[in-house]
Amino acid sequence: MALLQIAEPGQSEAPHQHKLAVGIDLGTTNSLVASVKSGEAVTLPDFKGEHLLPSVVRYMPCGNIQVGAEARTFASEDPYNTIISVKRLMGRGSEEVNALGDEAPYHFESNDGGMPYIKTTAGAKSPVQVSADILESLVFRAEEALGGELVGAVITVPAYFDDAQRQATKDAAKIANIKVLRLLSEPTAAAVAYGLDQGKEGVIAVYDLGGGTFDISILRLNKGVFEVLSTGGDSALGGDDLDLALAQWMAEQLQIEVSDNSISRYLLEKAKWVKEQLSDADEVEALISLGEENYSLTVTRHQFDALVLPLVKKTIRACRRALKDAAVDAVDVLEVVMVGGSTRVPLVRAEVQAFFGREPHIKIDPDRVVAIGAAIQADVLAGNKPDSDMLLLDVIPLSLGLETMGGLTEKIIHRNTSIPVARAQEFTTYQDGQTAMAIHVVQGERELVSDCRSLARFELRGIPPMAAGAAKIRVTFQVDADGLLGVEAKELTSGVESRIQVKPSYGLGDAEIAEMLKASYLNAAEDKDARALREQQVEADRLIVSLKDALSVDGEKLLNADEREQLGWEIEKLVVLRNGSDVIAIEQGISALSKASDEYASRRMDFNIQKALQGHSVDELGESK
Ligand code: ADP
Ligand code: MG
Repeated sequence: MALLQIAEPGQSEAPHQHKLAVGIDLGTTNSLVASVKSGEAVTLPDFKGEHLLPSVVRYMPCGNIQVGAEARTFASEDPYNTIISVKRLMGRGSEEVNALGDEAPYHFESNDGGMPYIKTTAGAKSPVQVSADILESLVFRAEEALGGELVGAVITVPAYFDDAQRQATKDAAKIANIKVLRLLSEPTAAAVAYGLDQGKEGVIAVYDLGGGTFDISILRLNKGVFEVLSTGGDSALGGDDLDLALAQWMAEQLQIEVSDNSISRYLLEKAKWVKEQLSDADEVEALISLGEENYSLTVTRHQFDALVLPLVKKTIRACRRALKDAAVDAVDVLEVVMVGGSTRVPLVRAEVQAFFGREPHIKIDPDRVVAIGAAIQADVLAGNKPDSDMLLLDVIPLSLGLETMGGLTEKIIHRNTSIPVARAQEFTTYQDGQTAMAIHVVQGERELVSDCRSLARFELRGIPPMAAGAAKIRVTFQVDADGLLGVEAKELTSGVESRIQVKPSYGLGDAEIAEMLKASYLNAAEDKDARALREQQVEADRLIVSLKDALSVDGEKLLNADEREQLGWEIEKLVVLRNGSDVIAIEQGISALSKASDEYASRRMDFNIQKALQGHSVDELGESK
């Protein structure tokens, strides 16, 4: 019989009432679990004292599973059964997975639904299952460390995660038997960890350079509430790319031929080690042994910095874009928070500091800061701090809308809208006597439905027959705090209604996990890229047209033949770039052309000022010759 616990008179009851809740950072490279203990949020170590759990799972034929560092040691030896960076596959269909190419070097099993299961010696594993295995390991660790059963967890996800990816994360938690108190965006968690929610109101930038991904988020603290103003970044840029650049350079220096996967993984591990040492040391010696051959190579921080500078610059360009999206200037950013192991690279810190013009927060371990913020939030949501009124808001990453006639998208909730949110819009029937309406819910920025991601379809039936355009159907979109969407359609004269909870076209049914990933999705990231491309093209066009216009007015007057020809060439160069699809090249072309036309622009200005002083209008001048 279990003994009843009785508190001593005068002893606080708090320890018995304190509910055990954790924050989980389910990372691409590493995962962590944290909890508030005696009023302080701390990450929880495993029995060996390690806090970071490598997000690696190895499946063995006997059915055993290894998770974490143990599994990672087999990454080169047993690559196909050792799953790394599974977060990249979450909520994605085969098409997208194939597009990942080398980054996902597994054998995939796709069937009619296009499910990207990973073939392992222990059977096909879905990404959701792999994530669940990581979560289970973290929960086990937490329950050991805290000495009790968890009431729930706050799990963090990137701010840009779409419905499918969020749902996949929730499904993984469900398989691992964890109650999800809330999905929280990673940047918001980091800001909370620094207590910025208690600080001065204003704009906060969260720069997160992890292992495989880069995210920049612009938040605003307003009346104690966090809003995400914009998110940006690069889902294929992170510490792994620094490793790759260094590994390739090392192979070149040592004239090593990278003839197979295991050599390349071995070199990557070496490069990672060198990189991490170089965060503290000015130079490092790498010892490499391949078969019979032994090599030694000294790498300096200076050499490393030169190799990775283009990658770091790329993150800074994304910061600039995110600020533009948020419509704020770098000088308006009050606080900069550094997240992710790769922000330990001194060059990264220096570039970020230079760009924002202020020192970033680095006091909390950048690996742990997200988990710590999640733990603080979990503590509040579990009810351990009933008086707290902390409210966190996220945004939706891509617009949500409906298909209308002609296969066009009508956006109901625009991207970067804070959640939770509900928006309604009225529609009407297209034909006389129409009694049903097909509702197709889509996500994306493009105008054509075929270019957007299809989320769900349902029908509203029983509309009383009326003339076309007479029925009034109100469609309401509602996104809850976890970023999940519900859609309701109601015919207002008759009151008939129909609704759907939009899970992506897969989900945990009562059937097996095998039913989970049914649909293949268009690439949400692609939509974002396409949008970025269009924006740059528009900017390029604006510059080209304005220069051509100006040249036709006063080009002959203000430039000599050589100069005119030169500028003509520069314009042609940008025209060519603009017609291509390389966003960065266009961006660079725009600044090149602006620079090339600087002199002309200033001559124009001088000339026009002079003429204006003489009492002539600028237009007159253009025609006067
Ligand atoms: P994720 O969020 O993708 O799981 P993390 O935030 O855990 O990633 O960051 C992992 C990355 O940080 C890896 O690429 C790792 O090599 C890098 N990293 C860890 N420590 C250092 C260090 N001291 N110097 C440079 N990079 C580091
Ligand atoms: Mg991370």
